[in-house]
Amino acid sequence: MSLNSALPGAGPTAHTASYYHATRNKQIDFPVLNGSLDCDVCVVGGGFSGLNTAIELAERGLSVVLLEARQIAWAASGRNGGQLIRGVGHDLSKFAGQIGTDGVATLERLGLEAVEIVRERVAKYGIDCDLRWGYCDLANTPQHYQGFIEDKHALERMGYGHKLTLIEPDQMDRVVGSKVFVGGMIDSGSGHLHPLNLALGEAAVAHKLGVRIFENSAAQRIEYGAKVKVHTASGLVRADNLVLAGNAHLAGLVPELSGTVLPAGSYIIGTEQLSLAQAEQLIPGNRALCDQRVGLDYFRLSADRRLLFGGACHYSGRDPQDIAAYMRPKMLRVFPQLADTRIDFAWGGTIGIGANRLPQIGRLRGETNVYFAQAYSGHGVNTTHLAGRLLAEAICRQDSTGFDLFAAVPHMKFPGGKLLRTPLLALGMSWYRLREIAGF
Ligand SMILES: Cc1cc2nc3c(=O)[nH]c(=O)nc-3n(C[C@H](O)[C@H](O)[C@H](O)COP(=O)(O)OP(=O)(O)OC[C@H]3O[C@@H](n4cnc5c(N)ncnc54)[C@H](O)[C@@H]3O)c2cc1C
Repeated sequence: MSLNSALPGAGPTAHTASYYHATRNKQIDFPVLNGSLDCDVCVVGGGFSGLNTAIELAERGLSVVLLEARQIAWAASGRNGGQLIRGVGHDLSKFAGQIGTDGVATLERLGLEAVEIVRERVAKYGIDCDLRWGYCDLANTPQHYQGFIEDKHALERMGYGHKLTLIEPDQMDRVVGSKVFVGGMIDSGSGHLHPLNLALGEAAVAHKLGVRIFENSAAQRIEYGAKVKVHTASGLVRADNLVLAGNAHLAGLVPELSGTVLPAGSYIIGTEQLSLAQAEQLIPGNRALCDQRVGLDYFRLSADRRLLFGGACHYSGRDPQDIAAYMRPKMLRVFPQLADTRIDFAWGGTIGIGANRLPQIGRLRGETNVYFAQAYSGHGVNTTHLAGRLLAEAICRQDSTGFDLFAAVPHMKFPGGKLLRTPLLALGMSWYRLREIAGF
């Protein structure tokens, strides 16, 4: 199958055979929508964005119907690296022209709060998802390490409430059993978790709060208006508000939104279970780790001591035929000591990427009651939770500076339509990789 299979209601609906799927908690099977329903808000998409918007709305007393085309967390939310990292992902200063320097500072602060939302949600509802604190940025070059020193100062100036520790190049064996990195920064306020179990736990919370969830119920057509009508193959939802949270899989349902998101494939392998000594040698301190390259490596230990090693960013729309064979050399470049270690799991997923890399959160142009959140560019575990809160604030007419700031930034539609979009981006990314290799 293509991991990018994108037509609502088309393609496989079962979860991919990942480590997460093999170790998932008990899952509620939600029904298919048959017949018609009325509600305050209809949410399209059962990933972190949709689930957390639904929870935030239900907590505020609104009636919510959530439609998922396949199964809850079928896409990126149930397949990702599980790294819960502070921030909304990328350099925000470039948006000062659109939202001002105060606006940039607010988004930076919200990027820290996003992790706290996950922390609170997991604690409040007792979600069992192997949440563990501790993350380390890894420098591939001395310039990256210099950047960490600046990041540390900036975060401390902002009053970041968690400990940050710089790791000098000759101290790297404190955080990773690899010779390829030249410095690091530990952040005790970021961490890692089992994303599918977080999403399944959140679906159970939403269900308990009264959200009516339907699986295998793709939104196929929308009639806009004061009452939005969302049609599925066998049902209809009438709602005062609509939230579109289909990310890279929205396809033809709302071309205006899917045109601003590029699907990119990223891949993860999971080793056999490691001995305690091996695990401690690879990642002393059991933190999540990420390097700084364009097609970055990200890795961590699972709760049952497997190395989950992710990487690559494919814009071609074509996935490697053998993901394990493709990813293993990347893992061995970092950890050659795993040459004889078996790979038990290999899977991939689709990241939604926007041209300017800022998560896209706002209102659909021309519609006052249609909202969206998408395109977190590989940094969505925390930001989806923030998006859910901001959307709920906006829908409930609560003051939401955060929503207004995100909504104020325009997002470019990728040129070339569906067929040309990916080759163009592949070309663009090759340019960035070339710059990285050449160091300019
Ligand atoms: C391999 C991989 C590794 C990643 N690693 C990390 C990481 O370590 N840390 C991090 O922060 N982020 C990571 N990300 C990114 C993160 O997973 C995503 O940003 C986040 O999960 C997006 O959540 P979402 O709910 O917006 O979208 P998705 O999880 O993509 O969910 C969208 C859902 O909408 C449904 N849908 C679409 N159209 C319709 C329709 N018409 N009707 C009904 N339902 C519809 C889809 O079936 C899907 O279930 C990674 C992503 C991938 C793929």
